[in-house]
Amino acid sequence: MSWYLKPKTRYLNLLELQLLHEFEKAGIYEDVAVAGHCNDKGIIFRTPHSSTNEVLATVKVALMPKGVAKYEHTGIHLGQHQLAAIILDHAQKHPSFSIGWGQRFSGCREVDGKVEAVSSGPNGEQWFRCDYLIGADGASSTVRKTLCIPFEGFTWKDRFVASNVYYDFEKYEGYSTATMIFDKNNWGVIARTGKPKEGLWRVAFGVTEEESASLDDPEFLLKKVQEKYEILFPGPRPLQYELQSANPYWAHQRVAREFRRGRVILCGDSAHSNNPIGGLGLTTGLLDAASLGNCLIRIISKGESNPDCLLQQYADVRRKAFIDYTNPTSIANKHRLMSDEPEEVKRRDQFFAKVNGDPEFLREMAHQMNEVLEDNFEN
Ligand SMILES: Cc1cc2nc3c(=O)[nH]c(=O)nc-3n(C[C@H](O)[C@H](O)[C@H](O)COP(=O)(O)OP(=O)(O)OC[C@H]3O[C@@H](n4cnc5c(N)ncnc54)[C@H](O)[C@@H]3O)c2cc1C
Repeated sequence: MSWYLKPKTRYLNLLELQLLHEFEKAGIYEDVAVAGHCNDKGIIFRTPHSSTNEVLATVKVALMPKGVAKYEHTGIHLGQHQLAAIILDHAQKHPSFSIGWGQRFSGCREVDGKVEAVSSGPNGEQWFRCDYLIGADGASSTVRKTLCIPFEGFTWKDRFVASNVYYDFEKYEGYSTATMIFDKNNWGVIARTGKPKEGLWRVAFGVTEEESASLDDPEFLLKKVQEKYEILFPGPRPLQYELQSANPYWAHQRVAREFRRGRVILCGDSAHSNNPIGGLGLTTGLLDAASLGNCLIRIISKGESNPDCLLQQYADVRRKAFIDYTNPTSIANKHRLMSDEPEEVKRRDQFFAKVNGDPEFLREMAHQMNEVLEDNFEN
């Protein structure tokens, strides 16, 4: 099944506008905005097509009060590979930057105020000696494991599927550039992956705990995709779509017990992992990178007098940001989409009522989008 075997391509919804502000500071915002699709329409909250087929609330960018938010869009949609290429392209313009492709980190130790690290590659083992080592090697981080730092939290038992499909959702009333579908069994997130002319959409949905293990079977996965599309998609039957790929994922809510051990520092998914509903994963990781970058500039270029203290501040502040904000928000995002608990339904209805009818609430939302990262590390 060739569609299943396609490499995993993650598409991002960079909703967290603090991050876009960081992109501006790093000089990459323009390139990201040109490569991706700025969502200038908004977000629709609705029920599945095959159940009550009802729009519950609409966030319309056009109705956002002007001049409150810095950007007149709710986020930028683009592939993670495109964002990586932009960052790499900018980094390569710096004479001091170099990258050693094909090297797999396998261990490190701190000796005489330096970090010695070893990697394995096509030409065997290679040793490095450096002032600091940043572990940005994803949720299964070898750096974190080498340091025996526990990754605390839990893994959801109900798996989800992220699929990429060509289908013209915006042709249909009640679907927008980003559409969240609320339902206990048939929740979903439908969003553009990039520019409208590309025509590709990301459709994510969940399966039950009982079905989760079977998702590794490509035939079962394909059956599930087809079944869910029937439930979620608008438009005439039989549905005419072109499925590009589908991949199952386990989602986690985990955080490293420490973000730093001496001169080795964790960043991104190696330090924390959360479910992708709401697009907070890479967003949080890139905000770690922005903070850590500022610390390292102060230490390496500006002669910071107490580097230990500054790095510990990074570790504490970013761990707290995940524990206090990213983790509860992403758990709440998941519950909000699928819970039928009366308390949750009540909270959800109150939220929809505000989105639909309270201009002050929209102003507040726009203002939140405009907030910039409180930077404890910059001079
Ligand atoms: C389906 C899905 C949708 C998502 N959507 C969004 C979204 O809309 N918005 C958002 O913000 N986030 C989203 N995320 C989360 C986002 O993809 C992750 O948070 C992000 O990829 C983490 O980046 P990272 O660089 O920390 O880790 P990774 O992307 O995992 O990168 C780690 C890198 O380290 C390398 N590596 C691993 N081990 C070693 C080793 N021993 N030596 C050398 N290199 C190594 C890997 O090859 C890889 O290149 C989504 C995730 C999924 C699964």
